[in-house]
Amino acid sequence: MQEPRNAASADFPYTLSTVCYIEVSSGGTVTFGRDAGTYERARSGASRLYAVWPGQYRSDLFVIDDLDDYARAFGIVHDERRTGLADHEHRVRWSISPYETNPNGSYVSVEVRFDCGCEIKDLAAFAKHMREQKGWAVATSTGFSGGWSQDDGHRFSVRVRRTSLRA
Ligand SMILES: [Zn+2]
Repeated sequence: MQEPRNAASADFPYTLSTVCYIEVSSGGTVTFGRDAGTYERARSGASRLYAVWPGQYRSDLFVIDDLDDYARAFGIVHDERRTGLADHEHRVRWSISPYETNPNGSYVSVEVRFDCGCEIKDLAAFAKHMREQKGWAVATSTGFSGGWSQDDGHRFSVRVRRTSLRA
């Protein structure tokens, strides 16, 4: 028989849809799947969290021993490295893209420059920050473009619902 491996030492693919999470409560009850309380229960010691990482020829059982890793992967705690976004009020300059062909459409292309040094690596995280900080409705299904350039620093283009943009 084998002991479960440690997820933290294996670059575990937490968000892979085929991963099966198994929760064993301190009373011995076994459940699977995850919900909004999984992280807190595991962190408080009310349960231990395991996961099966399905492979092509066999599947291995892991113990989720680094709950911070787990929480960052699911966006339960903010991950600055993965998202490119510090957990602060961003200083951004923005304008409607000069390449926008339909500036009166419901969504428009917006060019964003970060004066705070952040960048967009995770559009959903950017959308969440901008909704909270500026009230923007950023389209997350259409993706984003941009990156670092010598002239402009970090510059990105995103789609934003026009009526949510305020000066
Ligand atoms: Zn920032």
